[in-house]
Amino acid sequence: MTTLDTPMEALLDSSHGKPKLLVVDDQPINIQVMHQVFGSDYQVFMATSGAQALAICKSNPPDLVLLDIVMPGMDGFEVCGQLKANDATRNIPVIFVTAHTDAAQETHGLSLGAVDFIAKPVNPAVVRARVKTQLTLKFQSDLLRKLVFLDGLSGVFNRRYFDQQLGVEWMRSARSNSPLSIIMIDVDHFKLFNDRYGHQAGDDCLRQIAVTLKSCLKRPADLVARYGGEEFACILPDTPFDDAMMLANELERKVRAQHIPHEVSTVGPMVTVSVGLATRTLDSVGDAVQLVGLADAQLYHAKQNGRGRACGAILGASARG
Ligand code: GH3
Ligand code: MG
Ligand code: MG
Repeated sequence: MTTLDTPMEALLDSSHGKPKLLVVDDQPINIQVMHQVFGSDYQVFMATSGAQALAICKSNPPDLVLLDIVMPGMDGFEVCGQLKANDATRNIPVIFVTAHTDAAQETHGLSLGAVDFIAKPVNPAVVRARVKTQLTLKFQSDLLRKLVFLDGLSGVFNRRYFDQQLGVEWMRSARSNSPLSIIMIDVDHFKLFNDRYGHQAGDDCLRQIAVTLKSCLKRPADLVARYGGEEFACILPDTPFDDAMMLANELERKVRAQHIPHEVSTVGPMVTVSVGLATRTLDSVGDAVQLVGLADAQLYHAKQNGRGRACGAILGASARG
């Protein structure tokens, strides 16, 4: 058993090696000094210009930036301003490291979103302590940002994240003319399960189903969320109907194959799910709400047809789908 058995633990795991620091300074000697201070405890990346710093922050975001102010071309203030204006980089803390500190400069830097100022020449113990403080704060706020989007019981994403991502993926699908599939999953006779085995066992069952569903999704952009009580939902970007239908059937099979006993189900002696799929194709007319509505209707269809199965449909070329 690894320590990352549940999606929650995997998401909360921040031990991906040493923290990454980006040192930005046009004088290589200053970078060298920082490398001596931090080299053993951090991965230190370097940039000798503002443009290079922005490029690194985009391609390989560091956990913190130590930023010189006076540089030829783009100065540190401008780099900081650009980092804070971009959603992808705004949460990277910036500490200015500068030889000329006066109150006006410091105020300007802080107003741009920097978290601290350090005077050159740096005192190694002071700069180490300040960086450590800011990194602790950064990791704590990263964690909070993730928790806001996680379901407390099952550890997969929550409804809030599902709704947000559905909006994002719908727009992306419309823009790039790529298909988008969503899958709704509802546990069969779950009220009877709770009545027979107790609410605690019901909670355990939901956790096991969440892990099982998650294990079926192969592509990084695919996601599973807890949609409501005993309902889960998947978003599958760039996935055509046939592929999504195969996955919907696989989800049903894999949950069944867990053999979680359910003596009072009408479907079989184990816990099963009903699955509804809807796909947006290039010809589809409608919106994200209609896509969810169609997946829900297909789920209802699966329930009506005996449960423990998957049904799917393509959002039609007429508005109704
Ligand atoms: P169907 O096959 O038609 O879906 O029947 P069902 O019993 O699963 O559906 P129904 O909507 O009647 O009941 C859902 C049950 O799921 C009732 C509720 O107590 C239970 N449930 C919802 N959320 C939780 C939860 O977080 N934990 C537990 N243990 N049970 C939950
Ligand atoms: Mg339900
Ligand atoms: Mg149910």
